[in-house]
Amino acid sequence: MLEAIYEGERFDLHNHLRRQDSIKLEVERLKKAADKGAFTCPYCNGILKLKAGDIYEKHFFHPSNSCSISEASETYQKQIKRESKKHSVMKEIIYDELKTQEKINGNLHVEYGYIEKAEEKWKYYPDIIIENSKTELAITILTDVTATKDSRLVQQIKKRNDYFKTKNLKPIWFVEETEQSVDMDRRVIHLWEAELDIAVKMEEDLKWEETLDSLKTENNLFDLFNYHHQNAPRKYEVFSLYYVKSTETNITFTVQRFLKDQTSHPYRAFALKEAYEIKMATALLTEDTVQLSDPLIENQQRESFLLEALKRDKEYIPAALEASINSDDLQFSQPISNPKKYDEVGLIEILNDYIEEVKVISASELSKYLVKECGAPSQTYLTGKYQIYTDVCIALNGIETSGKIKLIRKEFVDDRIYEVIVK
Ligand SMILES: [Zn+2]
Repeated sequence: MLEAIYEGERFDLHNHLRRQDSIKLEVERLKKAADKGAFTCPYCNGILKLKAGDIYEKHFFHPSNSCSISEASETYQKQIKRESKKHSVMKEIIYDELKTQEKINGNLHVEYGYIEKAEEKWKYYPDIIIENSKTELAITILTDVTATKDSRLVQQIKKRNDYFKTKNLKPIWFVEETEQSVDMDRRVIHLWEAELDIAVKMEEDLKWEETLDSLKTENNLFDLFNYHHQNAPRKYEVFSLYYVKSTETNITFTVQRFLKDQTSHPYRAFALKEAYEIKMATALLTEDTVQLSDPLIENQQRESFLLEALKRDKEYIPAALEASINSDDLQFSQPISNPKKYDEVGLIEILNDYIEEVKVISASELSKYLVKECGAPSQTYLTGKYQIYTDVCIALNGIETSGKIKLIRKEFVDDRIYEVIVK
């Protein structure tokens, strides 16, 4: 182990040696002190000796029976070897905050994972364990998640995640914020496999699922929000990821909530809302469980999501149609080369021919066509719109009830866009 008590204070061997000019001389000095009983185990108070190999092998050890916490500490140290320096900084800040909450809330018990579970000799330890009357949470901070390390890291994290679950702990992972990758225009989050694996379902996620289940739209959610996808979800699975960012003395959390989508590489998910930042005290507020969200913001976000989805549903034009509306090759005004004359055959017959020729009908463009190509009356309203527009809308409305065409967009009083369903 690397930690000991020296002269009444906690002593970290690696940190101490890092600050020395001559490691060799200092090690000799420490070794002598240790032989005289200057270093004791922080957990069992037993005397510790110093093993002095090369820099990575120097460590304290129990000369006789080792205690369980020091053994657990060894296991834990190996496990966090890959983490960046920020890992221990963030862990300590979170630990301190939770310890403060423990003092306020009598039902809460907070401890480092390897200390709490040392007796049980676990294979992996979370950074911190929070226990209340209902659950035990296993909190682990992940730093330095990158592509090159992803595949190996995924395996490690999977194992640890599953292990904590078999021990009846709810694992919660905090990922260093530099890993976040969101594109809100396309509503997509790009994820490492590791991130997908450690996403959790918290209480707010369940509320989001309820909200989504209550949402009645004609079109599927992914289409409505322009999210590129293979299949629309049959069931909404909301998960959340928690990112941490640290300054010298403080930490902020960011919550990212999403609908699970692609579960093979490249990993993608539908971003429900913009991630938002929460202060540590709010995030770690614990009554029954760590809150990890701001309930007020969550409510607002759910409400605005519902409204937006409904609004988008009303205005939705399938992508294929939108393309044809915008494309130059589809001219509303000239679908037929030699159209019949308005005063010879009447409105309905021209309309029926017109529907045969086009995929999309704009009532306003159709009115212009009637006047310019078919010789329909050209009187206009004060707004400049042809008066025949009213007759056209009434006629189209009638045709719509037959199911031949479908209204896909209204532009207030200016225009109505129909999709042709059956030819
Ligand atoms: Zn000990």
